[in-house]
Amino acid sequence: MRKILLIISAVLALNFAVSLQAEPNYNKDLLMGILWQQNSGEYSALCYQAFNAAESYLNSLPGSSGKAVVFDLDETMIDNSKYAAWMVKTGSGWSAESWEEWCKSKQAEAVPGALDFALFAAEKKFEIYYISNRPVSVLDSTIENLKSLGFPAADSGHVMLMEKTSDKTPRHKKIEALGYEIVLFAGDNLDDFDSSIRKKNNNDRRIYSDSNIDKFGKYWIVLPNSVYGTFEAAIRPDYYNLTPEGKASARVDMIKTWEK
Ligand SMILES: [Mg+2]
Repeated sequence: MRKILLIISAVLALNFAVSLQAEPNYNKDLLMGILWQQNSGEYSALCYQAFNAAESYLNSLPGSSGKAVVFDLDETMIDNSKYAAWMVKTGSGWSAESWEEWCKSKQAEAVPGALDFALFAAEKKFEIYYISNRPVSVLDSTIENLKSLGFPAADSGHVMLMEKTSDKTPRHKKIEALGYEIVLFAGDNLDDFDSSIRKKNNNDRRIYSDSNIDKFGKYWIVLPNSVYGTFEAAIRPDYYNLTPEGKASARVDMIKTWEK
């Protein structure tokens, strides 16, 4: 009898110990990307390279009359890596609520070179639009965040957030309907440039880039984002239905390995 009781207590103790074990923090997969974005000279160098190319391209155009430039916001003009860092430190997964709270905190900082380039474009009298898929509920905070950083055209006429769809084409069309020709797009995601690539898998996205080589660094300015992007969902069609553990193993399955 005593033996049975001992076994039962041992099993209960083991269960208790297992229940005390914290859930693995799958957000740690973001760590190297965040470290690189926040600390490396190479990240800022790539941003400067992108905006230098953008400046050369605008300078190559005959004029700015009736011409607009379109900027994405997150990881193009403003840096949200502190939000991702919070996810790593706390083990909290991404949520619409915490993202909204972050946006409302107005703590995003300018991406290296972004402010100077926006001021350059404004000085050259290009019409500036910021098209972002932040929810429209954070419009005022986003405008205040941009204003506090010194960005030009930070107002409700020029900051277009997501209302019904993450597809940016209807918002591009709105700008064109106002009589502007969009001469330059800056973004960290292929979807910022052309909606036809939305929801395609990564193989198709690579082929798409290979088919548009001449546009990059000219009409399309790409900023580096090592932390997140549509490429993640494009790993496999059901990616966002997977558990955090399932997503982590899908990421490992996706990498190409040295077959030693
Ligand atoms: Mg972005």
